[in-house]
Amino acid sequence: MQTEVAIIGAGPAGTTLGLMLHQAGIDCVVIERQSSDYVLGRIRAGVLEWTTVEILDSLGVGERMRAEGHVHSGVSIGWRGREILSIELQALSGRPMMAYGQTEVQTDLYRRADEVGLTIVFEATDVELHGLTGDVATDSPAVTFTADGGQQRIDCAAIAGCDGYHGVSRITIPDEVKTEYEKAYPFGWLGILSETPPLPQLMYVNNERGFALCSERNPMLSRYYVQCPLTDSVDDWSDDRFWTELLTRVPASAAETIVTGPSIEKSIAPLRSYVVEPMQWGNLYLAGDAAHIVPPTGAKGLNLAVADVRYLADAFIARAEGDQTKLARYSTTALSRVWNAVRFSWWLTMLLHRFPDQSPFDQRAQEQDLYYLASSRAAQESMAEQYVGLPLYPDLT
Ligand SMILES: Cc1cc2nc3c(=O)[nH]c(=O)nc-3n(C[C@H](O)[C@H](O)[C@H](O)COP(=O)(O)OP(=O)(O)OC[C@H]3O[C@@H](n4cnc5c(N)ncnc54)[C@H](O)[C@@H]3O)c2cc1C
Repeated sequence: MQTEVAIIGAGPAGTTLGLMLHQAGIDCVVIERQSSDYVLGRIRAGVLEWTTVEILDSLGVGERMRAEGHVHSGVSIGWRGREILSIELQALSGRPMMAYGQTEVQTDLYRRADEVGLTIVFEATDVELHGLTGDVATDSPAVTFTADGGQQRIDCAAIAGCDGYHGVSRITIPDEVKTEYEKAYPFGWLGILSETPPLPQLMYVNNERGFALCSERNPMLSRYYVQCPLTDSVDDWSDDRFWTELLTRVPASAAETIVTGPSIEKSIAPLRSYVVEPMQWGNLYLAGDAAHIVPPTGAKGLNLAVADVRYLADAFIARAEGDQTKLARYSTTALSRVWNAVRFSWWLTMLLHRFPDQSPFDQRAQEQDLYYLASSRAAQESMAEQYVGLPLYPDLT
């Protein structure tokens, strides 16, 4: 088989890139290790930046999101035990954000792929990348895999590695070419999903017992998290223990309105920041979690994946029109936005969690950072601008 771009991974990054290239008339094939049901069963992100909303609209994927998603004009932060600080995102930045689960986004992307005839090969095993030398002129890229009981080969002009943190693409880049930046946080997030009405606004909580987050997936589906030690397992947390802990951490006025119920999913995720540089090597281009991981505090993972592939698709489109420069600069362009989101997610994580080794000095500094946010419009504007997402192509003139 021959195609222009072979895309590894049919998560949000790979499927969105496939739809963008297909829309632009650039031939591509998406190769996914799992079944579509498996991908759709993963409970992950739930907050969309407005840029992501607009990109999904532009691909004809926005209709259900517009009807069923919940537009939020602000988020709140519980602090100092009982106080609630409201950050009016829309008033401060001019843009709101959208609560719409990753599962729903992925469902809409797969439906659209079916409608437009984008080829996605599911349950492809033994995926291997070939012909990459690190030089766009001498590369002869190809992907081999096993699917439908037989070995298959796709020759292509470029490979897009959209296969997440544990994929094969990034490890194809030799160690001496790449630099990895990593920070592991000394706690995890215990998350539950419950079929109960969420709070009207997303609420982050800084509490002496640890961080908590009240978020939503839809009007009858809530996602709650509490910070927990990395040594804990899901079996340590009965539903009763979870709800008691959550209601202790959130401000009393919010606790009174939280509707509890049985969990339908419960998991613990470690928190990590990770970036690999560069995000391209010859004709291999990385996008999304394959190139970077952020702690979910800033709700950036899914949004960064969509922004990366917008840059990458724009660069492939420019190359098809004879301009090679955007593709040559893809990594530099994407990394500028990536590092901003990585820094923002790190900052929000440091602001809102309790660290096991937090000294009295660290504690005071964190309290002051929260106080500054609560008392300064400039600080709130800065947070709002980054939370709803920076423009894809900032105009600095
Ligand atoms: C457990 C978890 C919880 C999360 N929770 C949140 C959250 O609460 N809020 C938030 O904002 N973000 C969250 N995220 C982050 C967000 O979900 C990711 O940033 C987003 O999914 C990135 O999309 P992606 O397409 O780059 O990667 P992925 O979604 O990981 O997709 C990569 C795809 O590649 C496939 N693949 C892997 N290896 C191969 C291979 N060898 N060959 C072919 N295909 C392959 C995988 O099966 C997968 O479908 C979470 C992530 C994880 C892992």
